[in-house]
Amino acid sequence: MTLRLFSSLGNETREFKPLVPGEARIYVCGVTPYDVTHLGHAFSYVQFDALRRYLHAKGFAVRYVQNVTDIDDDMIMVSKREGGRPIAEIRDENDAIFRNDLDRLNVLRPTVYPRATDHIPQIIESTREIVAQGCGYEVDGDVFFEAGKFPGYGKLNGVTIAELAKRENPESKREWKKRGPLDFLLWQRTEPDEPRWDSPWGPGRPGWSIECTAMSTTHLGPQIDIHGGGRDLIFPHHENEIAQAECMTGLVPFTGYWMHNGMLQLEGVKMSKSLGNLVLARNLMSEVDPDHLRLYLLNHHYRTDADYHTYALPALGGMYERLSTAAQAATGSPPAGSALRRAFEDAMDNDLDTPAALALLDEAAQRVLNGTAADDEAAALRECLAILGFAFAGARGPATGHLEPGP
Ligand SMILES: [Zn+2]
Repeated sequence: MTLRLFSSLGNETREFKPLVPGEARIYVCGVTPYDVTHLGHAFSYVQFDALRRYLHAKGFAVRYVQNVTDIDDDMIMVSKREGGRPIAEIRDENDAIFRNDLDRLNVLRPTVYPRATDHIPQIIESTREIVAQGCGYEVDGDVFFEAGKFPGYGKLNGVTIAELAKRENPESKREWKKRGPLDFLLWQRTEPDEPRWDSPWGPGRPGWSIECTAMSTTHLGPQIDIHGGGRDLIFPHHENEIAQAECMTGLVPFTGYWMHNGMLQLEGVKMSKSLGNLVLARNLMSEVDPDHLRLYLLNHHYRTDADYHTYALPALGGMYERLSTAAQAATGSPPAGSALRRAFEDAMDNDLDTPAALALLDEAAQRVLNGTAADDEAAALRECLAILGFAFAGARGPATGHLEPGP
């Protein structure tokens, strides 16, 4: 049984071969804690939690880094709107709520949970190195990455620079200073009333994508095995991360596998604060058990777009009852190499096909409950459900930040 993962780079499914055998280094883009997080965030982080737990079950030592983007336009905008409220206070308040939601969903805490503002020296050093390598230029206190100087720019999106330039680009600040339309800020000069740090180019603050590059290289080294995030980050954020890291280190590829989760919508409509249609994980967890919500999220393949409806959780009520009741009825330790565990791994090895895995676990639960299961099937079922992170099956709790290889 070999784990195969789909990578957005090349749009292909390949056997998972990490840089160092037995180790998996994962970086997943975190949130910008300027506002509440919603069910879409829970979808993403529960999926990557399942990945992490599954890698661990297959014997990998997993190092999982997830950042906090605590300095950017949105953080500054909220701070100004709230009469100059300190950004650190806004961050801590929203981050505490976010982490509490994920704790309740039994999502393991990251091995490292770095904040951008704690990495300003590394961000400045990364920017300086990119300029030294000939891919960056300064214009009056702003430093840009010159996309046209990086030969592989566009490879994650599978298109040419000319085609990318036609897309809507949130990195469009200070167009008049740029040499090319896809150039993006590594360092930006700031107004005196905004947060700023001293740098070789004058007082300013980081661009967006350079923060993740500096944090991933600091905590995981110049190359990583898996980079995760929402599909909406493929352009420009992740395209920019590749360009920055590979320009800086000269090592290719920066990331072995690019894993992108689909988007979660509400009844066919994108969730957004302005539309007033945000569904919050914590509100749903006041109606159903957190494991029930986890089941809903994992019952979608991570790469699909999920469409939440109010009937979705009740519709899974029967399955949730069967799985939790059968798992809790299990006694004894799981058998080695059971047919159920093999079938479960076959599904999960196929680019983490959690819906297929859950379907066969549900069939096993029905056998356990109607008395037709093999003697040790309940124990095997419980073990597989624990690998998917269900608390009712005895999965490790969220405070476990570092996973050494083991059962
Ligand atoms: Zn990122």
